Amino acid sequence: MPPRSALFSQRSLILALLVLLTCGFLATSLLSYLASRSTIRDSIINTELPLTSNTVYSEIQKDLIRPVLMASMMAQDTFVRDWLLAGEQDPTRMTRYLGEIVARQGTFTAFLVSEASRTYYQAKGVLKKVEGGNWRDAWYFRLHDGAAPYEINVDVDMANQDALTLFINYRVLDDDQRFLGAAGVGLSVNTVVELIDEYQHRYQRSVFFTDAQGKVLLTGSDGGPHGLRVGDRMADNTALGSMAGRMQAPSAGSHSYEDADGHSHYLNVRLIPELNWYLMVDKRETGALDRIRESLYINLLICAMITLVVLLLLNAMIKRHQDNTEALATLDSLTGLPNRRSFDLLAERALQQAQREQTALVALLIDLDHFKVLNDTHGHLAGDEVLRQFALVLQGSLRQTDILCRWGGEEFIVLLRGVEGEAALHVADKIRLRAEQLVFSFEGKPLRLTTSIGMSGLQPGDDLQALLARADNALYRAKQGGRNRVCGERLETAHD
Ligand code: GH3
Ligand code: MG
Ligand code: MG
Repeated sequence: MPPRSALFSQRSLILALLVLLTCGFLATSLLSYLASRSTIRDSIINTELPLTSNTVYSEIQKDLIRPVLMASMMAQDTFVRDWLLAGEQDPTRMTRYLGEIVARQGTFTAFLVSEASRTYYQAKGVLKKVEGGNWRDAWYFRLHDGAAPYEINVDVDMANQDALTLFINYRVLDDDQRFLGAAGVGLSVNTVVELIDEYQHRYQRSVFFTDAQGKVLLTGSDGGPHGLRVGDRMADNTALGSMAGRMQAPSAGSHSYEDADGHSHYLNVRLIPELNWYLMVDKRETGALDRIRESLYINLLICAMITLVVLLLLNAMIKRHQDNTEALATLDSLTGLPNRRSFDLLAERALQQAQREQTALVALLIDLDHFKVLNDTHGHLAGDEVLRQFALVLQGSLRQTDILCRWGGEEFIVLLRGVEGEAALHVADKIRLRAEQLVFSFEGKPLRLTTSIGMSGLQPGDDLQALLARADNALYRAKQGGRNRVCGERLETAHD
């Protein structure tokens, strides 16, 4: 296990990288998203909506303003004025005139009301008399009393089975500006609604009209956006409320607002001076923005995956590095055997186990004889090579369960588990014999070597130090005894 500080710094490195990558990816993704969004919004507000509004406006001019001009022409027609001033002689002349207008201009109806006789003429003949108290005739008296040259209103047409009709009512004045009556035409509202439906379908946005107070006058057949119906005030609509509140009355230009579901909308408002109506074109911010939002999510997903892969790779690299460092810290670099540091751990565990289970444990302290001479004669590199080859001899002479370590210099230590007495002596002597018989080689040169081994067995109450101290004493005796031998507490072997 890596030490606490290494673990901590590893965690903080990964955490720092995670934060760095997350912040970096988030910042770049969000910046590009916001930049694309503002470009799209700009193009909707500054280009798309005004263009649609212009196009719808010119269509309106064609479709709605023509009847206004028609009504104006009727009101100023000398024939109409003369006929009224002459006492409305021969009404068929007037009905024929009105009939021709309907036929030629394709309007739904054409009419004339005389102020002198309060007679309502239309293409099919005299319809009725207008009366002050009748709600149906309120429009006439409004026009009569008002100052505006004309008025447009949506009303039922009595002459056409009460069909909802858009009337353009013009004041007819004589040369002295005296009120002679009202003339005008009517269009079927259905025709206008169909027109709106067509605009909406063609441009994929909501189109509707309001008066100067923001009261809805006309919408497509499905109503306006957010359930707006004819007669509703924009300010009363909850979705439009916040914006309408800001606007109070319609004001020309582009506006943006959020509906109840949080979707952004853009509203272009334009005054149609000929009608004194406001044309509203509403577009929900979908489509293009949905697409860039989708690409933002994909972007973020890719970034998250890259971050994950980078962190996993980094983690694996750190782990590998740690394993290497750990191995380096516990293994001797020349022989690859465990070093003294790891021996202490392994030996302590083996000692406890042997004491707990009351099994035998024997320590062998092995020292190469006259190694200094070998170094001095053949060089340090030859000494190193001999140490490496002797380590292999040791490994080949022991069992998996035995513990082996390079104690330092040309000394090695072995703990034999589960053997004692003769058997342990046998293993020690096997090592001594193999070393003696083996011809080590360095750069083709044969080198020979003997070993002295001190041996001690674990006794009750022993600690590692006591065990090794006895082995060291035995080794000393082996050296004193002439080297190339195994000395133990009771048993000894010697070459000679
Ligand atoms: P003795 O039989 O009494 O043990 O004699 P010796 O020469 O082996 O003992 P001494 O302790 O005097 O010398 C040990 C030598 O081992 C001295 C030292 O330079 C050498 N030595 C220790 N570690 C290494 C090593 O890693 N590589 C090499 N080449 N020599 C080493
Ligand atoms: Mg030595
Ligand atoms: Mg030695």
